[in-house]
Amino acid sequence: MPAKGAQMNPDVVVVGGGVIGTAIAWRAALRSRRRVTIIDPGGDADKASLVAAGMLGPVSESVFGEEELLALNLLAVARFPEFNRELETAAGTATGLRTEGTLSVAYDSGDLAALRRLADFRHGIGLRAEVLAARECRRLEPFLAPNVSGGLLAPGDLSVDNRRYVRALREAAANAGVEVIRGKVATVSEHAPGEVAVTLTTGELITATSVVVAAGWATGAIDGVPEAIRKAVRPVKGQILRLRHPGSLPPILTRTIRALVQGRDIYLVPRADGELVVGATQEERDDTDATAGAVHDLLRDAQTAVPAVSELILAEISVGLRPGSADNGPIVGAVSDGVIVATGHFRNGILLSAATADAVAALLSGGEPERQWSAFTPGRLS
Ligand SMILES: Cc1cc2nc3c(=O)[nH]c(=O)nc-3n(C[C@H](O)[C@H](O)[C@H](O)COP(=O)(O)OP(=O)(O)OC[C@H]3O[C@@H](n4cnc5c(N)ncnc54)[C@H](O)[C@@H]3O)c2cc1C
Repeated sequence: MPAKGAQMNPDVVVVGGGVIGTAIAWRAALRSRRRVTIIDPGGDADKASLVAAGMLGPVSESVFGEEELLALNLLAVARFPEFNRELETAAGTATGLRTEGTLSVAYDSGDLAALRRLADFRHGIGLRAEVLAARECRRLEPFLAPNVSGGLLAPGDLSVDNRRYVRALREAAANAGVEVIRGKVATVSEHAPGEVAVTLTTGELITATSVVVAAGWATGAIDGVPEAIRKAVRPVKGQILRLRHPGSLPPILTRTIRALVQGRDIYLVPRADGELVVGATQEERDDTDATAGAVHDLLRDAQTAVPAVSELILAEISVGLRPGSADNGPIVGAVSDGVIVATGHFRNGILLSAATADAVAALLSGGEPERQWSAFTPGRLS
């Protein structure tokens, strides 16, 4: 429960305890030995971080026109394994990182033509992506539908069990001395020279040397966050399914499959424990209702690409709100003395979490993040 701010007096307050806020809090506490406090309302239902699929796929996510984001995503995936090793050691628990890559497959001839255009684009900018014939795809993944027409393998893409990963971040943060206050921040403001304050919706005031606002899609609802950021960040609804293998059935996939099925994009992300995540819708809406149509469409396309999906148990339907931004890129950097924002991670927040945490930890210590971040500062929005 919230303590009075004057009594707590942390060095750094992080607003939001999703993957971004928790990763930042852990790294800031670890690197600078500062007293770090996360403020979050608690309850996991509204966290995109726990709904996500956990793909760490800069190559299979790369599309025309987003080259700067691709460069940042490549930095993030290169950073992830070492960060994850440190995390597993600090938390004493495994996160389910997988390294088998992503196989994108095409269903009909139109899908194959689209995949070939993507392959040309990826090769053109020097990415590692191997074009595979249909039978090579099925040699790698025997449960793919017989009429899959070809594929593209991105061997450098990773995936992680994002729920285990967030749990590990929480554990590591707690072990590094990070405190968590249950509460909702209404306002961020200057307090005194060298001091900033957050005011909770209950009226309590907490002061600190630095505040990091990492409240995901809801960042725009916090007073004191610059108008340009409040306007740029929006919720993008995603519905996603979690399937489980019945006891008798061995895992049907070994690597992430992205399938283009008559122009529709779907992914299937296998976990070592037999879970299979199938996603996801992308809707310009801010409700978190699961709809019958979305479940139908996701299962239909998943079954078309991998017919054995119909044998699996439908274990969970979940809905999350991605923090979308005006240009699909994250917004990370200082907005005023002592106030940093880290939001807008859209489809890539799990992938970008390690790189974001280290970038913000660098800023908090007076350093500079890597050059790939220069296209993603808050200043670009004004
Ligand atoms: C269906 C789906 C699939 C996805 N798949 C992937 C994927 O495969 N790979 C990938 O990299 N990314 C994926 N993403 C995107 C990823 O989940 C997000 O980019 C990421 O979780 C954003 O993290 P966050 O910490 O900014 O936000 P959240 O996880 O939403 O956390 C924000 C936190 O801030 C808190 N908060 C809000 N307002 C306040 C306030 N006023 N005061 C205090 N706390 C506040 C919230 O309660 C919440 O706990 C997916 C997202 C969805 C929805």
